[in-house]
Amino acid sequence: MNNYFVILAAGKGKRFNKDKPKQFFTYKNMSIIEHSIQKSLESGFFKKIIVVTNNSNILRKLINSKLITIIKGGKERSDSSLIALKYLKKFNPKNVFIHDAARPNFSFKLLKNLLRNLKKNKAVVPIVESKDSIKYKISNKIYNLKKKNALLTQTPQAFRYKNLYSIATKNKDKISDEATLFINNDLKIKFIKGENQNKKITFKDDIISPKTYFGIGFDIHRLIKNKKLYLGGIKIPFHSGLKGHSDGDVILHSIIDALLGALNKKDIGTYFPSNTKKFKNIRSPNMLRPILEMIKKQNYLINNLDINLICERPKVTMYRDRIIKSLSNLLFLDKNQINLKGKTVEKLGLIGKEKAIACEVIISITRYD
Ligand code: ZN
Repeated sequence: MNNYFVILAAGKGKRFNKDKPKQFFTYKNMSIIEHSIQKSLESGFFKKIIVVTNNSNILRKLINSKLITIIKGGKERSDSSLIALKYLKKFNPKNVFIHDAARPNFSFKLLKNLLRNLKKNKAVVPIVESKDSIKYKISNKIYNLKKKNALLTQTPQAFRYKNLYSIATKNKDKISDEATLFINNDLKIKFIKGENQNKKITFKDDIISPKTYFGIGFDIHRLIKNKKLYLGGIKIPFHSGLKGHSDGDVILHSIIDALLGALNKKDIGTYFPSNTKKFKNIRSPNMLRPILEMIKKQNYLINNLDINLICERPKVTMYRDRIIKSLSNLLFLDKNQINLKGKTVEKLGLIGKEKAIACEVIISITRYD
């Protein structure tokens, strides 16, 4: 096991953020660079991991392993790579992997494949196909490039140390990766299948992590004669209706409270105070609408909701499909994102005597920006 892993992390990543190098931003619970360090360490393939960086102070606070050496980088990527190769000379390595810290998502399997292919090759480089159409320009004329002829190279790239060292030390050009050195010197590269997940993080948009929140809602209204019963936005034939300032729809009120809970925006009474004439006899779908607007404006999507309707009668099984259909229309959701359960209370108390209906709802929403 005479393999060495070099992580290039000297770039400033100005397109990402001007104040802090991007490799130190948090991504999936740790800094971007730590993903590469951890994976290379855990693979057990490498004698040493060399991190080339101009921010050794930040890095020393993050990592603590005898296998890791931190060295100072150069001005350009190619300078840093050469510094690492020269540093490694005294260890007389057989193989060296060169990796960009901005690619935290490569798999253990990719490392294994690179190493296996290195047995019969001097350079092994992962590639993926382009998902976009590619054009290129030569003196103001635009040409189309066939997608399948475009090879997008990724890192880690794996090399026989002595071959890479000998061409890297002679190179005078700025290069974007080590594969370029082999190409410029007409040397053979073994290309292997890269990974779509192993994309390079360049802009802040590249590391959006969705945030999911939960909200809970509860409501209860008394049943009174001579009122229509509304549940989940539809009229249900029944001997009584729900008493309230509005139409008393306990399902929609619980949903509104659950949504407000998930949004951290207080409760239904804050937006529809029951002492305001304006909202007298308001239909609950009209109360739901502005809350859904808030959800949309803040880039949230509803994942699912689970509803417990607590009543002796009406029987939920009789109206489940209609209520779910109504809710899916009101909430702009697919029917399979909504679950409705009926729960009786063994004829106990006000609910058991059909003098009230209660409801509870849990909802989950996710923000993607
Ligand atoms: Zn209510």
